[in-house]
Amino acid sequence: MLVACEGDCPAQAKLGGFKESVSAERPCRQCLAPRDRYLSITDIAQFERRTKRKHEEHVTEVEQFNRRDSCGVQDPSVKYGVNYRRVEGLICMKVLAHAVTSGVVSLPSVNEQLQGLSQFLPHDRPNCLIKEDHLYKGLRQSAAQMRNLAILLPFVLVKDGKFTGEANFLSVLLSYLKLMNLMMAYELHERDAYRIKKKVEQLHQKILEIEPDLSMAKVHFLHHFWEQVLLFGPIRQHACYRFEGHFAFFKRMARIIRNYTNIIMSTTNRHQTRLCHYMLRKHFLFEEPKYSVKFQIPRGVSDPEIKLVRLKEVSALKIAKTGPLEIHGNTYQEDGLILLSDTSRPFPEFGRIINVFVVDDKRFILVCHKMKTRCLDEMLNAYRVQSLFNKKLDISVDELIFPHRILSILTKGKHYAIPIGHRKLLT
Ligand SMILES: [Zn+2]
Repeated sequence: MLVACEGDCPAQAKLGGFKESVSAERPCRQCLAPRDRYLSITDIAQFERRTKRKHEEHVTEVEQFNRRDSCGVQDPSVKYGVNYRRVEGLICMKVLAHAVTSGVVSLPSVNEQLQGLSQFLPHDRPNCLIKEDHLYKGLRQSAAQMRNLAILLPFVLVKDGKFTGEANFLSVLLSYLKLMNLMMAYELHERDAYRIKKKVEQLHQKILEIEPDLSMAKVHFLHHFWEQVLLFGPIRQHACYRFEGHFAFFKRMARIIRNYTNIIMSTTNRHQTRLCHYMLRKHFLFEEPKYSVKFQIPRGVSDPEIKLVRLKEVSALKIAKTGPLEIHGNTYQEDGLILLSDTSRPFPEFGRIINVFVVDDKRFILVCHKMKTRCLDEMLNAYRVQSLFNKKLDISVDELIFPHRILSILTKGKHYAIPIGHRKLLT
């Protein structure tokens, strides 16, 4: 029995018994939208939905009467598709091509600025060697790189709060960033599914305004995401990113071992060895927190930061200062940002970590400077923040309202905070 699976678009189509290419007469796996109309219509209620009964009828048509073109079905389905697809490639490419051709920014300057901004990303930095023909044929970035490129692009294109190109183009990019933030949120409520639906319709409309001859099936597929949220929960739990991330291991492996004769056997062996190595850990599924102790704090030290920690941890036997702390896949370290309050009106509050303490080898306290949120920069889709050096506070990692990574970007003397994956902020 197949419970769930992840894969890219053609693989999922194949598994679902559909034609692998979007050139099918009915290219969508979730509705019966015809090929000639599915890209120009933003209200998908106009299309008939695929149902289990309909699917069985189509399969019978294919098997008994060999009528393959009417419904996009090739074979009986193994499952009903769970899918995730990305359109940021299209949007980044169109916006960047427009900015370069209309003289907003030159390509060497784009590459140089991206290079500088990339240092604020911990990993998956975009490829900063974008060439002229990439603007028309594809930007050649991996899924994660493209996502980061979309986040950094407004910082490259907007100068002194102004975008000198056509406003429509920047508006598409910003709409997409907001939608992406909501879709990739760690936590989603039922009503967010309907917000996604609305935002996709608006985004599609805006894309049609800049690209009337749109030829991207992915844009139509976005319309079905809200239903997937209702059925399966937050998209990041069933997104293609995870599949791609795991698949990267195999792709890297082939290059490293340089064995192309029996690649399946070699990668299987190595993968199994890697799994065995993981299973040797104390907790196989839950990784232990990782940190290195810088020094133990002797009793009687009355540093104001230690006082803060002691006040919180009255029964503490030993307290130590640590280097970067990695826990549940998140890293907390000096200068990293955390979210202190997530009220979007007037603004959320952030803190900048000064020190990380471990108490009795099991509890973690972050001492941070409170930051003032000056404004929401709509054109950059980021909060402008500033450290308040006189306000120190401490917070336990378990108490964080949003324990995930917050992108911190310092550019042109200004400091920006971008909470990625929060359902209310920047969405
Ligand atoms: Zn559809």
